[in-house]
Amino acid sequence: MGVPGTSTGGGMRPPRVLIIEDDPGEARALHDLLVWNGFEAQMAATARHGWGRLRTWRPDVVVLDLGLPDADGLAVCRAIKADAQLRDVPVLILTGRVAVMQLVEGLRAGADDYVSKPYDPREVLARLHALLRRGRRIADLKTYHLRWWSFLKTLLPAPFLQALTQRPQELLGPAQVRPLSVVAVGWEGLSARLQEAMRGGRGGAGTLHQALNRHLDMFYESVLAEGGMPGPLMDSMAIAWFNAPLACAEHPVRALRASLAFRERVRRLHQGLPPALRFLPRLALHRGEALVGLMGGGAFRSYLPVGEVIETARRLALLAPAWGIVLSGAFHEAVRGLFPALPWTEAPRFVRMPLYLIR
Ligand code: CA
Repeated sequence: MGVPGTSTGGGMRPPRVLIIEDDPGEARALHDLLVWNGFEAQMAATARHGWGRLRTWRPDVVVLDLGLPDADGLAVCRAIKADAQLRDVPVLILTGRVAVMQLVEGLRAGADDYVSKPYDPREVLARLHALLRRGRRIADLKTYHLRWWSFLKTLLPAPFLQALTQRPQELLGPAQVRPLSVVAVGWEGLSARLQEAMRGGRGGAGTLHQALNRHLDMFYESVLAEGGMPGPLMDSMAIAWFNAPLACAEHPVRALRASLAFRERVRRLHQGLPPALRFLPRLALHRGEALVGLMGGGAFRSYLPVGEVIETARRLALLAPAWGIVLSGAFHEAVRGLFPALPWTEAPRFVRMPLYLIR
């Protein structure tokens, strides 16, 4: 039977077995058997010594005798399984007599398997192989999970990650109807510059892309600073919403503050950009209820708000003058008196709702 190697940073090495056994003859016989079969093995004659070796040598599997001079082997097993760094190390119990109660206790203490003495060497080897294979699968899964998680962290906005770790049921459970404040931002000049870049005009698509990302960054930074949730860029327009997945008190106020801060950031950004790369923000704020949750199914899904409140905010941003912040009447009501907004008298007639404008 081949020995399953254990993958480490630098490649494969023989699997390590720590033998915690006080009988020197038994320990030596097992040690030699394992080394002969391609394992690395170390011996510890006491629980105390064994614990030290566990921490410093990092075995892949532990063979544990239950009758030790300084502690009950079961206590050692429980300590291993209670330790965050050691709990994945499989434990194979050696028991001197076939005592059913002891075996039950051992498995209850978290032992992964057992062998009764006197044991058949082939049986010990077979069980160690099985434990190592299982241990490696767990390690592979953990590595996979960690990689996936660090990748997700680069993609998901902070409020989403926060909700995912604190209250996953809100994100993964059924969608909810929530009151939201929505900010939509469109960019005057973006489409025209894109057309130009595609025809091979000044700047080129790469430069334009960089400039667009810098503008978007200003938006996302401002939204996140107020606890909002940024949405993706679609049709040259980005939206953000407040109050889901994390509930935020005074979400209209936060949405307004984020919009004002964003506008200031873009003004500062423009001081360092050539005119051809300056896109002028057009903003709209609206509030109302939306269905929020995971949209889509097994093939693809994404956390989004859906509803009239989103549609309206997007349409209002298309109408807003450059640098202007349009407030729907409903939104204005929630922030009245916080910032001077005048009724927007030049609003297109077809919009049948009261509108306000911050110039
Ligand atoms: Ca013993």
